Amino acid sequence: MQANIRVLGSLLALLISQNGAVQAAGVDGRDDTANSGTGEVVQGNYLAEEKFQLTDASLTHLADVDPEHAPLFYPENTVDKRSLGSSAKCKNFPGDALWPSDSIWRLLDLFTGGALIKTVPIGASCYNNLGAYDKARCSHIIDQWSNSSLHIADPTSVMWPLYQGRTCQPGESPSGKCSLGGYPSYVVDAHNVAHLQLAINFARSMNLRLVIKNTGHDFNGRSAGAGALSVWMQRFKSIQYLKSHKTKSYSGPALKVGAGVIGSELYEAAEKYGVTAVGGEGMSVGYAGGYLAGGGHSPLSPLYGMGADQILSLEVVTADGRFITASEDQNRDLFWALSGGGGSTYGVVTSYTVKAFPKIKAAVMSFSFSTGKTVSYDAFWAAVRAYWELLPTFNDAGNYEYWTLLHGESDTLNFGMAPWFAPNHTLAELKALVAPLFSAWKSLGIQFNVVESEHDSFHGAWAAGFPRETVGRASTKTAGRLFPRENFQDPTKFNKTFDALKSLSDNGGGLIGFGITGGPGPYPDNAVNPAWRDAAMWAISVVDFPEGSSWEFIAQRSKTLTNDWMKPWRDVTPGGGAYASEADVTEPNFKQSFYGAAKYERLLSIKDKVDPTGLFYALQGVGSDRCLKQKGTRFRTPISSLRQSLNMSFIAEQRESGAHGIVSAGYVPEATDVGYEGVSRGRLVRAGISNFVLCFYELGACLFISWYLLTCAENGVQQRPCYSRRDDLPVLDMSKSAVELAL
Ligand SMILES: Cc1cc2nc3c(=O)[nH]c(=O)nc-3n(C[C@H](O)[C@H](O)[C@H](O)COP(=O)(O)OP(=O)(O)OC[C@H]3O[C@@H](n4cnc5c(N)ncnc54)[C@H](O)[C@@H]3O)c2cc1C
Repeated sequence: MQANIRVLGSLLALLISQNGAVQAAGVDGRDDTANSGTGEVVQGNYLAEEKFQLTDASLTHLADVDPEHAPLFYPENTVDKRSLGSSAKCKNFPGDALWPSDSIWRLLDLFTGGALIKTVPIGASCYNNLGAYDKARCSHIIDQWSNSSLHIADPTSVMWPLYQGRTCQPGESPSGKCSLGGYPSYVVDAHNVAHLQLAINFARSMNLRLVIKNTGHDFNGRSAGAGALSVWMQRFKSIQYLKSHKTKSYSGPALKVGAGVIGSELYEAAEKYGVTAVGGEGMSVGYAGGYLAGGGHSPLSPLYGMGADQILSLEVVTADGRFITASEDQNRDLFWALSGGGGSTYGVVTSYTVKAFPKIKAAVMSFSFSTGKTVSYDAFWAAVRAYWELLPTFNDAGNYEYWTLLHGESDTLNFGMAPWFAPNHTLAELKALVAPLFSAWKSLGIQFNVVESEHDSFHGAWAAGFPRETVGRASTKTAGRLFPRENFQDPTKFNKTFDALKSLSDNGGGLIGFGITGGPGPYPDNAVNPAWRDAAMWAISVVDFPEGSSWEFIAQRSKTLTNDWMKPWRDVTPGGGAYASEADVTEPNFKQSFYGAAKYERLLSIKDKVDPTGLFYALQGVGSDRCLKQKGTRFRTPISSLRQSLNMSFIAEQRESGAHGIVSAGYVPEATDVGYEGVSRGRLVRAGISNFVLCFYELGACLFISWYLLTCAENGVQQRPCYSRRDDLPVLDMSKSAVELAL
């Protein structure tokens, strides 16, 4: 073990540069040293980024530098740990009295060896108000906006701007000012486990919101969060090949994959080692972050199961600041939960060890057809119907089809397959499999060109079949549903399913679908949504609106999608579900839908055990509904309660008895509440009309004296996350960005 002395050098730097806030770090000039900051190298079966940890000895170093504040960075089980305001129900927010001062932030920067970044939104170079204007950089950002790599390389950017509130959008001459919106305030650019431990301990002690960013792919921007400290996982890039790995239930090759590894890197490593890994189709989607934690569907799922089914063990920093291993032998609950039960809920995972399969061949095809002169609307739908009718056959063959059904210009409908992916198939075998479908299409007059190829490894087929997808739009909202196999086998159910899917397109929506199953089984006991297990299709629905639409209009379109267009999908899949990682931000009954009701209960009890103070939060994550909506909520006391409190019959009786004067006077609490309820300075506050009442015998009537009670410190529309544990309050989702405020 070696003590780290860089902290003292950083202290010197801090003393030299007392210029206020911590400086923003340029992404390009990042320090790649894994052992930076306070900590010690610990030996064990760890990846390079996992060896440098916070130990008891390193706590002493913290105390040497700043004995007063060092305990803010201590793990939960340390005797002299210190916390400021962690007993408060809500997280501290910028501007709150308990928000860390600049000097405390500098201490975090110091202890992490300069890894703290003060957020500068990705689009700031296009604006004049943050001192970051840079014409060339702005042009680059505009040019690359739809490229996922741009957003991955930025500490806070998310790929779907709707979910950071569309703040600071890049443009040649953008209107308005660049603000933080739903982005976190600070980021620890984590190089090692010690950085994560320091950030977690600090966030817990200071009662701050903590978010985790890997790539920013999540459909609902769940790697962002206003007023948060974020940890950025992109440096956890190591991949270790374990040729013969043994656990209680598995013996064979495995890969230990760092949390920052993306799909293409995983597949390149698997190719190098001559094995096959079960990951997503998207080349830049993070693998060992949100993907595996959320279940993870794969072009190989019909053959081998979900991504999370391959997990053998994982390393994780928990809310108390400990770094532990979870597997079928140790910390089993955590292992179960982090195998499909969602990211950003139970801890920060630093690596997953997963099964690797033998190298396999694969064949791919891509094609498309549209309505037009030779293909009528009816023929188009008959062709789509013919494909869906045969879905169980393709499922059984272990195939995966990734298709889109979208509206084009001049009222055309386009069906695209990119790709049809046939693992363990030669091209000849794939052609034989699709022959009945292609012949049905031919008889319908459907013409299409097929681009096809055959490969001796998954990597080759994947690279040939899956184009890089574009991101960055703020003009769509999605929802989705898993459709069970029986919906394609039972003729009555099939008719209803077909009508339900078609109705969404007829209404003007788009469909993105996957012919996919959750695997052939037997399934490991994990937290993967049970709706995956009998699935034959995962379908995503899309509603669009012009870029720059008002929040009101977006909210209206969102409601149309969720409440109207998606209802037929839910009606034909009772008790079914959807996929949380590609989710509807306003999914009804998200517990059942994303987790399955029974698994949700178990996940919630694990969450309470491993994260009792609610440090981790993910929108629609387990336990998330205990949080207050940050905007606050309008409330209105029912009229019945008003009548009751005034006791009108009592007044009437007094009047009949000939009594004179005032029968009752006073504050009527139950009758006061028409107004706003929200969170301010860490407390629940109410702002609204309050009533004083005078009731007269003679008149049999009451006089209300009302005044506006403003106990809310600010304007009430604050981007203020609150992690209230008050179960007595109405169940509301917590919002973190303007879109959620609007929806
Ligand atoms: C173009 C595109 C293609 C996609 N393809 C697929 C696919 O083929 N299969 C599939 O299943 N899904 C796919 N997805 C969805 C994808 O799985 C999710 O968006 C997933 O959450 C991405 O994880 P991430 O870590 O890369 O992203 P992020 O947005 O950075 O993180 C997602 C969530 O996981 C949390 N998280 C991230 N890292 C960690 C960590 N180390 N520990 C704990 N929590 C963490 C974050 O806080 C956040 O809540 C795709 C999405 C897009 C946009």
